[in-house]
Amino acid sequence: MTELLLHEREDMPLSLLETPASGLHEILGGPTLFHLAGRREPALFVSVLMHGNETGGWDAIRRVLRRFLRQDGFDLPRSLSLFIGNTAAAEAGVRHLPQQPDFNRVWPGSETEGTAEHALMRQVVDIMTDREIFASVDVHNNTGRNPHYACVNVLEHQSLHLAALFGRTVVYFVRPRGVTSMAMAALGPSVTLECGKVGQEHGVEHAEEYLDACLHLSEIPAHPVPTHDIELFHTVAVVRVPAEVQFSFGGKTAQVNFPLNLDAMNFRELPVGSLIAECAPGVALPLDVRDEQDRHVAERYFKVEDGRLVTRVPVMPSMLTGDPLVVRQDCLCYLMERYNDHLGDAG
Ligand SMILES: [Zn+2]
Repeated sequence: MTELLLHEREDMPLSLLETPASGLHEILGGPTLFHLAGRREPALFVSVLMHGNETGGWDAIRRVLRRFLRQDGFDLPRSLSLFIGNTAAAEAGVRHLPQQPDFNRVWPGSETEGTAEHALMRQVVDIMTDREIFASVDVHNNTGRNPHYACVNVLEHQSLHLAALFGRTVVYFVRPRGVTSMAMAALGPSVTLECGKVGQEHGVEHAEEYLDACLHLSEIPAHPVPTHDIELFHTVAVVRVPAEVQFSFGGKTAQVNFPLNLDAMNFRELPVGSLIAECAPGVALPLDVRDEQDRHVAERYFKVEDGRLVTRVPVMPSMLTGDPLVVRQDCLCYLMERYNDHLGDAG
């Protein structure tokens, strides 16, 4: 196992604020945790670039920092611990490099172990455990058309408040494991933000306003979020295309041909019989679908009928993408159910 050094710094060169995500690796040399002092403690923990091609978080936080820039440095309303993750992948403009694991699957609680990246994330959690956090925000983009939404990994009032502050749509998930927000939830209220596609100005602006608001919060309410303030969804399954299955978006000749605009179905309640793909003759159910306990449940949700892959129960997908590389590196989509009825279970 080659060691991966965590850089930890209490100063931020101002030139960094002018540096796009692709230029960070040259300056920082790898994953870097900044601690910037502010008027209140403990710090807000913000992580960006866990996925190297999702640049919205870095663009948002550097704009926020510019807002608080004074002649003698930053005048932050609250201390900020900023973790800049996969700088090498950001330089290459990819989610992660081929030889790297996904940085958002290797945090404590992961189902895998033993890489330098696992050790690095453990180190970040240990440091932040000692320092304590006010809250944790991990900022992402996605590749398909999705509304902006926040995710939580525990049904807990403060995390739900933090999520609802970003928008009405909130997703609760416990798989995949090893994500930042799940590890940080042990330290304080914790969310993942999904800010739409990379390069969309309003995603950066939304994250910028949100992070600014979090730095100004004096406390996070501990009472229940009113049910009319939130649309809570629960991820019940992850859908993958098995490695041996060839697929296309908008094609006709692969074993499985998804329509080009498949991502238009995100966050829509799909009726039974909705068309997901056209399949070549003889193709049996070409999806790997796992529930929260990692059980195979493809037959519960989908069937192939006359060469058409269709839904067999009402489902609502999220994170459907039209990017074949994302399908291979991550998944095709998640399936969700409405979950507001469970708000009362939150603690
Ligand atoms: Zn991401």
